[in-house]
Amino acid sequence: MREAYLDNSATTRCFPEVVELMNKIYLEEYGNPSSMHHKGVEAEKHITEAKKQLAQILKVNERNLIFTSCGTESDNIAIIGGALANMRRGRHLVTSMIEHPAVTESMRYLESQGFEVTYLPVDEYGIVSPDLVEEAVRDDTILVSIMHTNNEIGAVEPIREIAKRINAKNPSALFHVDAVQGFGKAQIYPKKWGVDLLSVSGHKIHAPKGTGFLYIADKIKVKNLIFGGGQQGGMRSGTENVAGIAAMGLAAQMLYQDFDKSMDRLYALRESFLESLEDIPDLRVNGPKGKKCAPHIISLTVPGVRAEVLLHAMEEKGVYVSAGSACASNKPHTSATLEAIRLPRAYLDNTIRISLSEMTTEEDMQQASEALHEVIPFLRKYTRH
Ligand code: PLP
Repeated sequence: MREAYLDNSATTRCFPEVVELMNKIYLEEYGNPSSMHHKGVEAEKHITEAKKQLAQILKVNERNLIFTSCGTESDNIAIIGGALANMRRGRHLVTSMIEHPAVTESMRYLESQGFEVTYLPVDEYGIVSPDLVEEAVRDDTILVSIMHTNNEIGAVEPIREIAKRINAKNPSALFHVDAVQGFGKAQIYPKKWGVDLLSVSGHKIHAPKGTGFLYIADKIKVKNLIFGGGQQGGMRSGTENVAGIAAMGLAAQMLYQDFDKSMDRLYALRESFLESLEDIPDLRVNGPKGKKCAPHIISLTVPGVRAEVLLHAMEEKGVYVSAGSACASNKPHTSATLEAIRLPRAYLDNTIRISLSEMTTEEDMQQASEALHEVIPFLRKYTRH
């Protein structure tokens, strides 16, 4: 059966060119970048090249990037390391109610250590209000963390405006942005916008799992959380994942090469897919409309059908989607994002996420649309009262 993989916000398939490069590094240029001989220098070059590629995309200096093992680690270093390094100035942090657990759980840890956290609500589309951020920031606020793109409904947050407001109210408060779902799908310029810390993950952009990076602006104090041999300026000890780092640099370069064209294609796929569903009664698309929503995330509520049942019925048709946020769905939970946009309680369990990538084709979307047309009326017959 033909497979349509539409769970790209959970993870993506690696670009073949990326795997080729990794293979070369694993089999031939496998040195430790800290070694002083030729093999080490060869490996170090891959790290330098990846830094150059990523720094160019973000329009930042190469010295401001550190490599990590994933988006979760980047978020942890930024929030916990940022709070620990700045706690003498205050113990208050601000975040939103729709962040990924990598952010929320870091905040909860800090609360257990005596910090105070303000969790901001969002509007019905999942947008954080810059006014509310400004109101929440106090003299003792040391860090604000707001995501670039929400992983469940695709809401793109007004990061530039939020940065301005934080800076106006308390210029010494750090601003961290989780850009795990935004990087590769939006132009993001942390330095220009006044963002101090920015998290990215490799496996969402066609590089392998186990890769990520964190942008740390100049003069920003962050306490390291991993101790050891002092690699990466002591910020993140441990022998670098050279193949993974090189993979991330190349994947990012490939994604941003023909960026506007790629985004137009994704938005067009999204729009025609949604149009094709208009004849299915009682569907609800969550998140903002148009360009305020990321091109690759579609959150669909199907009243009367449990998400898990729908997911498996679609799987039988070769279509892979997710129920809520796959990254956090290994344990049963109700989605904080869907609750925060005040989706009626009865619908919380009726929502699936369809997520696209650079590799998604028209045929994939057509297969998904056909599957939904077949499966929804069938399931509703059995589950509706
Ligand atoms: N932040 C967001 C918004 C995410 O969507 C994810 C994963 O889905 C993460 C952080 C965690 O990234 P990783 O899987 O690389 O740890």
